[in-house]
Amino acid sequence: MSSLFGRRAVVVGGGIGGLSVAGVLAGYFEQVDVLERDCLAASAESRPGTAQDRHPHGLLAGGLKALGEIFPGFERDLAEAGAVSVGVARDIRYERADVGILPKRDFGLTILCASRPLIEFVLRRRAMAIANIALRPGCRVTEIVPSHEAAHGGAV
Ligand SMILES: Cc1cc2nc3c(=O)[nH]c(=O)nc-3n(C[C@H](O)[C@H](O)[C@H](O)COP(=O)(O)OP(=O)(O)OC[C@H]3O[C@@H](n4cnc5c(N)ncnc54)[C@H](O)[C@@H]3O)c2cc1C
Repeated sequence: MSSLFGRRAVVVGGGIGGLSVAGVLAGYFEQVDVLERDCLAASAESRPGTAQDRHPHGLLAGGLKALGEIFPGFERDLAEAGAVSVGVARDIRYERADVGILPKRDFGLTILCASRPLIEFVLRRRAMAIANIALRPGCRVTEIVPSHEAAHGGAV
């Protein structure tokens, strides 16, 4: 029995969320189109649509695990691209205004630190390697209009 839900899925936004969703939908739709309003560089670069991307990012274990389930080997890809594994409370110094510097501990927990543009770039590369995903940069969605077929319960 076919596992396909429909012919075409459209994802609005080609950030971390949109690319992850596209990776999942690719197994259930013939074609997945990701519409992204920004123009996208061929490298890991900051862009206007993700204003938070200049802030340092650490990918917590849960997010990393989830991305690895969608794109097997994602952690390896990210590490090879330059992400750094950091021990929580061992390699990061925490300070609180009321108690000062907290003692260093090894909780056996690590996070993978990278810039958000790098995380997204590696994710984009993985999503683009899937044959039925098409990323369409420079496409700003202005309105969502249900088609006649979809409005009556059919697949788009
Ligand atoms: C200061 C700060 C620090 C953070 N630090 C961390 C951290 O350390 N670790 C961590 O895991 N997370 C961190 N986050 C959260 C993380 O950045 C976000 O959760 C993540 O970027 C959300 O991804 P997203 O794809 O859901 O949304 P976004 O990154 O907001 O992407 C949305 C995308 O949709 C596109 N878009 C929007 N409107 C349209 C439209 N009409 N048509 C087409 N495209 C459109 C945008 O251009 C963008 O590409 C931080 C966030 C902030 C603000």
